[in-house]
Amino acid sequence: MEDYSVLIDPLISRAFTLGVSDVKLLDASLLPIDEKFADFCKEPLCPSHGRSKSCPPHVMEPSEFRKYLQGFLWVLVFKFDVPWEVLLSDDRRDVSRVLHETAATLEMAAIESGVKKAKGFAGGSCKEAFCKDYGQCQALSSEQVCRFPDAARQSMSGMGVDFKTLSTLAGWQMDTRIPKDPIPDSTGFMAGCVLLG
Ligand code: SF4
Repeated sequence: MEDYSVLIDPLISRAFTLGVSDVKLLDASLLPIDEKFADFCKEPLCPSHGRSKSCPPHVMEPSEFRKYLQGFLWVLVFKFDVPWEVLLSDDRRDVSRVLHETAATLEMAAIESGVKKAKGFAGGSCKEAFCKDYGQCQALSSEQVCRFPDAARQSMSGMGVDFKTLSTLAGWQMDTRIPKDPIPDSTGFMAGCVLLG
C-alpha cells in the first residue's frame, strides 16, 4: 500500500484552508450506502430529480455505487457547520455552492498529487446550487457539457450515502430532526467527500 500520509496531510490542510469545519479520513469500505436514501429523491419527489446530470436517475444506483467504491482505499469526508437559519433559507444555495467547490478543489488537488482517480462528491443538487436560473442542465442537453465542470459534483445522497451513519463514523453530532423554529446560533451541517485510491 502506498504511503498516503504524504498525500493526506496536505489535503487535510488544504481542506481547512478552504474553510471546512472538520475533515476525517475513513476506510472507503466503511462509507455507508442505503437504498432508502436514494429513494428519498423520488418519494417525495425532489424538485431536482431528473433535472441535472449529477442527480438521480443520471447517477449510479446505490448497488452500482457500492461496487464502484471497491476501487478506492480511502474517503476524505468534510463538513461545513452552518446555522440552521441559513440552512432553512435561500442562502443554503450559497453554502451548497461552496460545498461543491470544496469537493471539486480537493479532488483536483488529489489528482495533481498523483491520485489519478480521486473523485469528489457533495451533498445537494448542483442544479439548485449553480444552474437554478438556467432552464436546463447543459450536461443533459445536446451540448452534453457541464457549465461548471471545475465546481459542480455529483450528489452523495442520490447514490444512497447514509449521512447519519457517516456522521457517527466521523465523530460528528448530527440531529436528523429539522427544527421548525431553530434556536438562535444552533447549527446543522452540510458534507461532502473525496474518494481516494
Ligand atoms: S450544467 Fe453542470 S452544474 Fe449545471 S445542472 Fe448540469 S451538471 Fe449541474
